[in-house]
Amino acid sequence: MTDSKSQMEKVVSLAKRRGFIFPGSEIYGGLAGTWDYGPLGVEMKNNIKREWWRAMVYERDDVVGMDAAILMNPKVWEASGHTEAFSDPLVECKTCHERLRADHPKEIETHAAAHTKKNESVSWTEPRQFNLLVEAKLGAVEGQKDSVYLRGEITQGVHVNFKNVLDSSRVKIPFGVAQIGKAFRNEITPGNFIFRSREFEQMELQYYLKPDEKVAAESFAYWKNERMEWYRKLGLKNARFRDHAAGELAHYAKAACDIEYDAPFGGWKEMEGIHHRGDWDLSRHAKFSGADLTYFDEETKTRYTPWVIETSGGVDRALLFFLIDAYHEEGDRTILKLHPRLAPYKAAVFPLLANKPQLVEKARQIYKNLQPTTYNLQPIAWDDRGNIGKRYYAQDEIGTPFCITIDFQTLEDDTVTVRDRDTARQERVASKDLSLFLQERLVR
Ligand code: ATP
Repeated sequence: MTDSKSQMEKVVSLAKRRGFIFPGSEIYGGLAGTWDYGPLGVEMKNNIKREWWRAMVYERDDVVGMDAAILMNPKVWEASGHTEAFSDPLVECKTCHERLRADHPKEIETHAAAHTKKNESVSWTEPRQFNLLVEAKLGAVEGQKDSVYLRGEITQGVHVNFKNVLDSSRVKIPFGVAQIGKAFRNEITPGNFIFRSREFEQMELQYYLKPDEKVAAESFAYWKNERMEWYRKLGLKNARFRDHAAGELAHYAKAACDIEYDAPFGGWKEMEGIHHRGDWDLSRHAKFSGADLTYFDEETKTRYTPWVIETSGGVDRALLFFLIDAYHEEGDRTILKLHPRLAPYKAAVFPLLANKPQLVEKARQIYKNLQPTTYNLQPIAWDDRGNIGKRYYAQDEIGTPFCITIDFQTLEDDTVTVRDRDTARQERVASKDLSLFLQERLVR
């Protein structure tokens, strides 16, 4: 393995060079804390979201999905506590006026050390709270526009629709509502590539329960495990749980646990949070909106405000850690050992020689046959540049699990060479069995 700092630099450079992630608005000098996903990045990101949706919605009977608007009535954020409490403590360096998070001691130390090195004195202002909600103006007439917020978390879009979901579907408590979508935060110190940005995507489950400590504790433990298993099944190593101490709980939480990843920038970092939110959201929205957000339990003939267990993960952080985890160097080869389900391309098809029309035609035909269909969304790459060695190199670097080569033997017996990314082993497979061959390896 490479040393940790250079590993991060290599991942960032690979991500740019091969079209995973670009700095946002780059030709205009960028916009701090924003990133654009390129041709391979969007595939990988969609794969992460699809895997999450499959595990959290399709493979369960007790969860339904929804997709709420990013812009919401500003009262939502009063009710949720965000206008009041969604803030970070900031200190300002009196020497250079840079603002840093008061709760990030390492950054403060590094900053102070930089001044000390230049024989400059360092002192800080008292910490001040800084609200993270991003404001926007809505309306047609200048001067009469209303202030709204871009949502700081996707959570509230689900809770304000609790009654709608209940009345329009056949869910019964316990049940969950899953959602994936963009969130925006005026982060004071965006950084570490896509780890902390100002626009990012979240994937969340709000799971509604009977208000009962035992039921909630069991559900909390269950969801912690489910979420950790999801990362593990998709091949992620180096993840752990970290329970929050009572003093660090967010304003809405009765209990919280992070799933952390051992990042090459400063060690364990939050990737997902599992939160016991109690009845905070529903009771606050009931109070602020006047709507009745209680639930009538047919079994016990009682009415109550449900409690909520939430799992809240970052799509971008998951993508970053899957990339870092998958990054390997073997000799002069760079290999992204991504789980096949997350890899941007499932396979690449090559004609052995680009200047032999018979080979190219046969390869095109096989490539076409493997193209995604409505039920089978698996992008396949085509490459006929350079020699086979270079093509393998290029596909390993972007994590393509299988390379399929059409050679002269194919023209005789209709078999192809399939090379495995991780073992570099090659085997002959009948071209008519290719689809099944890939299917079997991709569902694992
Ligand atoms: P942090 O302490 O790192 O700021 P948080 O505790 O504020 O994170 P939550 O509000 O619990 O994070 O958000 C849930 C998830 O959303 C996080 O686990 C993370 O994956 C993702 N997330 C939060 N803020 C950002 C950000 N600025 N950039 C990218 N992802 C983020």
